[in-house]
Amino acid sequence: MDACTFHPDNAAVEPCEVCGRPLCGLCLWYTTDGHRLCEAHARERLADGAQVLPPETYQEAIDHSLRRTPAGDDALLSANGEKIYRGNSIDLNALIAAGLGLVTLASCCGGAYCLPIAGLVLGILAYTNADRSLDARRTRNLAAVGMGVAAFMLLTVLAAIGFYMAGILILVLTGP
Ligand SMILES: [Zn+2]
Ligand SMILES: [Zn+2]
Repeated sequence: MDACTFHPDNAAVEPCEVCGRPLCGLCLWYTTDGHRLCEAHARERLADGAQVLPPETYQEAIDHSLRRTPAGDDALLSANGEKIYRGNSIDLNALIAAGLGLVTLASCCGGAYCLPIAGLVLGILAYTNADRSLDARRTRNLAAVGMGVAAFMLLTVLAAIGFYMAGILILVLTGP
């Protein structure tokens, strides 16, 4: 489709029936008996006594048809928005620590004995370096979550190992 004669950025909807110039919705005039005209020829018809509808009468429909696909803009907005995690490597350590802690909690000790230690170490690193992160308070909070969960899981794992060892010990001591 050609571009509008008067708006090079707009795709033409229809040509004028008299001069044939391509017209976008903003430039397309309708006569009440269905003819599609450019403004100049519509005004001629109007002078002849015809009923003519200027584009303004259906502005809402035009706005809709002119609306450009907003998908790209939306993606850009969300890329600069709050949802995307922004921070430097220390921020990231705290996030990983918190994540590891939560993953450890979710995995219920199943083959993840080393994760609490990693979470604890990363949490401590992030907490002690929080002043150098972009958002010190958030980093401390995340690091605290990571450390807290990791420490809790570590104690749980140690307790489980302790009970296990105790159980073996009791079996050995009370065995035949
Ligand atoms: Zn025309
Ligand atoms: Zn136009």
